[in-house]
Amino acid sequence: MSPAGLDARRVAAARLWASARMPYLASALFACAIDPDPGTGAVAVSQSWRIRADPEVIESLDAEQLGRLLVHLTGHLIRDHAGRARRHGADGPAAAARWNRCADAEINDDLLADDCVPGLAPDLPADLGCEPGWLAERYFDQAAGGARRWDCGSGADGSGRPGDDRSGDDGPGSGIDAAQAELLRLGVAAEIGRQHSRLPGSVPAGWLRWAESVLPSRVDWRRVLAAEIRGAVAAVAGKVDYSYRRPARRAHLHQDLIIPALRRPVPDVAIVCDTSGSMDERLLARALAEIDAVLARAGLRQGQVRVLAVDTAVHAIRRARRAADVVLAGGGGTNMGAGIAAAAALRPPPSLVIVLTDGYTPWPQRPPPGVRVIVGLLVTGFRPDDWAPPSWARTVVIEDRDG
Ligand SMILES: [Zn+2]
Repeated sequence: MSPAGLDARRVAAARLWASARMPYLASALFACAIDPDPGTGAVAVSQSWRIRADPEVIESLDAEQLGRLLVHLTGHLIRDHAGRARRHGADGPAAAARWNRCADAEINDDLLADDCVPGLAPDLPADLGCEPGWLAERYFDQAAGGARRWDCGSGADGSGRPGDDRSGDDGPGSGIDAAQAELLRLGVAAEIGRQHSRLPGSVPAGWLRWAESVLPSRVDWRRVLAAEIRGAVAAVAGKVDYSYRRPARRAHLHQDLIIPALRRPVPDVAIVCDTSGSMDERLLARALAEIDAVLARAGLRQGQVRVLAVDTAVHAIRRARRAADVVLAGGGGTNMGAGIAAAAALRPPPSLVIVLTDGYTPWPQRPPPGVRVIVGLLVTGFRPDDWAPPSWARTVVIEDRDG
């Protein structure tokens, strides 16, 4: 056992067992930190994705049993049971306990086929007197009364616990915030989609329905753009971009495990805005408003966003508080390559460049080093293929579909 009191090998073995069973949950399983919480009898998850575990309970479970419990607890986080409990009005200790059982039934219903129902939190819809295949909200309204079998924590029922604030060895207040959680959910949903198309029938129906409800639809460019921006900001801010390219300094402590490296610089964002005469001004305004909202929700401070107006030349570089402050000052002809180069030359250099253009522009061969580029492609009509944005950028097609 480590000095901290948790059997790290057992936890690692349990995580590996769980991610081999359900590969689409792997990123979420490894995103949860596990902190020792001796003498409590608990293995519970907080709303910031930290698992508090009594070392004695961990000792009493083998890797497989612990793996089932980790899958189950991760399921609460992925399905946002805490947020849904609040939205469903499950307030107070009695309602929280009832919600916990109902959320357990929703998760376990999908774990049954993979033999992953945890022995400590085994409630199924039938145990609540309910039909299988529904969501916690419906179980909550219909379930027969009964005692909570296992307290899965605030990450399951949304009601904070005193121990939630205790920090682990990553420093106070650490954990996964709402934006990072949303990104992890989108990642899991995308993995589920990939596994389902590769091996139809291998993903339980409830997980599939959940993934479909989470994944952005093709027509809604707002969600795709928001996810791309949140992803880039979160990756730049660290915590979520688990890169295996550079080993973490602690990697030597776990010789048989690869510990992903975490990077955590402050993100700076530049928006390169095509102001040529062919741009659709209304669509551009909507795209800028959307970016504004996403960056604000991602918590970027004033002065971290700069906006460049570009046609054939770079007209204005403004430290804008809001993307919508941009002044369209364009003429004909566009060269977004000049805009990207000007953005990359800013001091401090941006780590994310968002380009908004109608695509009638040449592009550089490769992106500036160390800069992520998202292209918001404003589509208003026919587009020849040779104007396609470069493959090194993430492209979001922004269409005016609702008039
Ligand atoms: Zn549970």
